[in-house]
Amino acid sequence: MRIGLIAHDAKKMLMQNFCIAYRGILSKHELYATGTTGRLIEEVTNLSIHKYLAGPLGGSQQMGAQIDQNQIDAVIFLRDPLAPKSNEPNVNDVVRLCDMHNIPMATNVATAEVLILAIDRGDLEWREMYR
Ligand code: PGA
Repeated sequence: MRIGLIAHDAKKMLMQNFCIAYRGILSKHELYATGTTGRLIEEVTNLSIHKYLAGPLGGSQQMGAQIDQNQIDAVIFLRDPLAPKSNEPNVNDVVRLCDMHNIPMATNVATAEVLILAIDRGDLEWREMYR
């Protein structure tokens, strides 16, 4: 599976901890992340990640283009619901693209856990056929 990862600044440490906790599962998949999120994950795990540009420089649009081509199977976007910075990627753009292609997307860590466990159990194998 190809899994997209993005975290707003306030959630980057949470994303790091999530990736440490689920490193074993994540290592079996292809990971894509916006620049800073990807670098921070790599710093604390031994996961290798395809890194786009940093979010404010167009990284989320790069991920969006890949979602639009149906090349991402699941997205974890840990958003800051309270005070997202004005230059941070808009979660709604990614939600919209995922909804267009029926790509499962988690926007908080509780749903992210459900999603990653479902991926590990094979619940998303239909995506391989769909693609
Ligand atoms: P980043 O992009 O991972 O490059 O920081 C996401 C964001 O800006 O929130």
